[in-house]
Amino acid sequence: MDPSGASDPYVKIKLIPDPDGKTKKKSKTVKSTLNPEWNETFKFDLKQEDKDRRLAIEVWDWDRTSRNDFMGSLSFGVSEVLKKPADGWYKLLNQEEGEFYNIPITDEAIQEELNKKLEKMAQIAASKPRPQHRPKGDGHKEQGDRVRAADFNFLMVLGKGSFGKVMLAERKGAPDELYAVKILKKDVIIQDDDVECTMIEKRVLATPSKPPFLVQLHSCFQTMDRLYFVMEYVNGGDLMFQIQQVGKFKEPVAVFYAAEIAAGLFFLHRQGIIYRDLKLDNVMLDSDGHIKITDFGMCKENIVNDATTKTFCGTPDYIAPEIIMYQPYDRSVDWWAYGVLLYEMLVGQLLTKDTKKRLGCGGTGERDIREHPFFRRIDWEKIEARDVQPPFKPKIKNPRSAENFDPIFTRAKLDLTPPDAVVIKNIPEDEFDGFTCVNAYYCPVRDNYVIDV
Ligand code: AMP
Repeated sequence: MDPSGASDPYVKIKLIPDPDGKTKKKSKTVKSTLNPEWNETFKFDLKQEDKDRRLAIEVWDWDRTSRNDFMGSLSFGVSEVLKKPADGWYKLLNQEEGEFYNIPITDEAIQEELNKKLEKMAQIAASKPRPQHRPKGDGHKEQGDRVRAADFNFLMVLGKGSFGKVMLAERKGAPDELYAVKILKKDVIIQDDDVECTMIEKRVLATPSKPPFLVQLHSCFQTMDRLYFVMEYVNGGDLMFQIQQVGKFKEPVAVFYAAEIAAGLFFLHRQGIIYRDLKLDNVMLDSDGHIKITDFGMCKENIVNDATTKTFCGTPDYIAPEIIMYQPYDRSVDWWAYGVLLYEMLVGQLLTKDTKKRLGCGGTGERDIREHPFFRRIDWEKIEARDVQPPFKPKIKNPRSAENFDPIFTRAKLDLTPPDAVVIKNIPEDEFDGFTCVNAYYCPVRDNYVIDV
């Protein structure tokens, strides 16, 4: 260090990730100063795919003894600065935070703006606890067999379970339109006493004005022996698959996923719906890296005000203690599973068994989550508008090759067993009345989601 305490700073600027160090540029070193100014221009020839990278700015101190000292950094999502150029003063962050965030320095005006935003968010939260009892015909009218199995070419199996299969399908005549079609066998549903769950899954999927964090439904139809959910194809794989590739997520990555998942849960809870099956496997990534919650087969509707429910259900690792103790429970169980999921993403802290003390569960639950220091770097308005650039973009060479899905499924045979006449005879004709529909709100690609206030 210079004996006067001043430093010799210079700036490194690059597009990250930058594995070969090809994009790195360096400013001149400003000698012996505590208040450096560079006034330099750096030009990057951006390719289309660079919009998913971040522009990182690092400040280093050239020090004769220790050679180089890192002083701090910040970064901007390229897609975000292309939309809105950055200007003003920013905080220098540590290396891990700097890779993911930029924090404008709050002068009085910015502080005032922030207060306004917080106030607006609180108003939104206070005005929202309205469950929706959806009358028939709210955009999801029964449309006869307008959409049919024969409309699709089934390409491969994406996932399997006791319920049946999820298949990748293209709409005939529109090879660019890919869908994930979940196919359930009616006899299995009836035998397992799952008719109500299936109808709830359909109603939740077809809920109008769903935020883009919940998978979108295109349509539902049925044949004599099967039910079909035609959904948007989410091709980035699930968080279980992604975490297996990297071991665990860095904190800012987990914060991003957690914030988008919370935005999805806030919506469901405001509708009086408890999700009840939050887990890594049920959170998928779309091609841009934003999250989509799938599988609404375990949802419970009409849990508003002090209402509770007591069905024993969930996935073992994620079941809240109040369910295991057969106590009546509410949306608190989703925040338990959320805690487990966060723990898995980060390997974090011990979980709060007392529902009254658990984050997200009191009267100010939504606000407590939004204002928790874990999310201090999160601009919730931008998150909810999907304006925050995801930390990572799933590798998708060709959406048809489904490379983010387990080959155990994608290599499986495509054929459906032919309907069995005896089985069909035993399925009451009206058992699945109300299932078939076309979703007038289907719109999987929505860049600017507007919160319905
Ligand atoms: P589910 O029963 O809804 O959890 O579906 C089982 C598996 O099918 C999931 O773990 C995913 O791998 C796959 N899957 C379900 N929905 C979709 C979707 N919309 N897009 C792509 N894959 C899906």
